Amino acid sequence: MSDPLNERDTAAAALGMVAEAAGPYLGSLPDLPVHDHDAGGLLDLLDGELSEDGAGTLDSVAQLLRVGVGAATHSSGPRFFHFIVGGSTPAAQAGDWVTSLLDQATGLWLTSPLASRAETVVLRWLKDLFGLPRSYGGVLTPSATFANLTGLACARQWWGERHGADVAADGLAGLPRMPVLSGGYIHPSSRKALQVLGCGRDAVRVLSRDDAGRVDVAAMDRALGEIAGPAVIVGNAGEVNTGDFDPLDELATLAERHGAWLHVDGAFGLFAATTPRLSHLVAGVERAHSVAADGHKWLNVPYESGFAFVRDPALPGRTFGAWGAPYLPSADDPNINYNFLGPESSRRARALPIWATLRAYGRSGYREMAERHHDLALRLGGIVEQAPDLELLAPVRLCVVCFRYRPPGVPEEELNELNRRIGVELLADGRVFAGTTTYRGMTALRPAIVNWRTTETDIDLLASVVGEIAARVGT
Ligand SMILES: *Cc1c(COP(=O)(O)O)cnc(C)c1O
Repeated sequence: MSDPLNERDTAAAALGMVAEAAGPYLGSLPDLPVHDHDAGGLLDLLDGELSEDGAGTLDSVAQLLRVGVGAATHSSGPRFFHFIVGGSTPAAQAGDWVTSLLDQATGLWLTSPLASRAETVVLRWLKDLFGLPRSYGGVLTPSATFANLTGLACARQWWGERHGADVAADGLAGLPRMPVLSGGYIHPSSRKALQVLGCGRDAVRVLSRDDAGRVDVAAMDRALGEIAGPAVIVGNAGEVNTGDFDPLDELATLAERHGAWLHVDGAFGLFAATTPRLSHLVAGVERAHSVAADGHKWLNVPYESGFAFVRDPALPGRTFGAWGAPYLPSADDPNINYNFLGPESSRRARALPIWATLRAYGRSGYREMAERHHDLALRLGGIVEQAPDLELLAPVRLCVVCFRYRPPGVPEEELNELNRRIGVELLADGRVFAGTTTYRGMTALRPAIVNWRTTETDIDLLASVVGEIAARVGT
């Protein structure tokens, strides 16, 4: 068994097994509980010692399918509302399989003109979809965390150059600390990016005007005036507790006034730009110096998928490229080597599922989906407002609904514990999946609706299961 060369004829059959499993799995996905507790024992089948001889292709793929289909979290189904987790459109999922089938060494044009060209095309399509100028540079990343890292690394390079330093070559030694300002909506992944970049996650100076974290633009204006030299502003387009937005246009004006860099984290919120109904939420994003977003959330492309855009298209190359290895293309290679434009080197052809889904559904497909999810969020918000024992904690702006259980007569100091227990029970129940957060000191549910499969039935089920569990836990 052991040498894969002896099994070379099994590849197509193995893929056929996956394709055969796909139909029944996808067919059952809309009705499966998000979680099945009895699947626990299946995970043990993953375990054991590394075998000497190997079990062979077909046996191993069969085993992986058995365990995987049974034990997976069915988060790509329509009722996974925790965090902000999208599914996979049919075209994106098939595009992802094509990516695996072709197994392109993506990063250098030389190793895959196909992947390189596809990346260029989808980046242009995405800029068009989001109303970003075509002149922006960009790169596909594994996630929004990496897209934030990419944008903030470019910011750091720009900031270093303003101090006469080349941070890519020489690092940060001898430079002052890079000033970073944001409102309270800043996502932990932007801090993580700063911590990886050597700027420190606590470099962020948070200027909020309330306990929800809304940015204090006037205070930021003053703070920027007091900083001698360039600074970086992080604008947040889509905050994870309520889906609220920083006023990007005002932040862009501040950046202009003070010669600062504006980085926008639009992991899911950038998709507001896909519909005229919601695009006012991201007005001004086209004035940002760098923009980060996710493909595996609202684009409904399989993990791992994100993208970063940078206004100055020459900056990513200075930030991530020019290693001078003799076997790599030189910096003046006329072909695009995405290797040099982002934090990764070798990577999968993650442009292909993006290409497939954008080609399949077009602008109107994504507009309709964003509008439907907005409608569904408003529907849930309406149900919450009508219910005497539920309390909506923030206006529904996009696709997130932040609320808590608040039955009459229960004192405020008991509500957090009560809602925490509802969250735990809800996750254990598994019919719908939504957990808790802390919003302005209150324990709250904050379901997010970004999956293409989700319909009114799923939203109504979410509301009724929350009601049922709350009634049980509350007594
Ligand atoms: C999800 C999210 C991120 C991080 O995205 P990953 O894809 O998990 O890396 C960053 N910012 C915001 C606002 C998010 O919602």
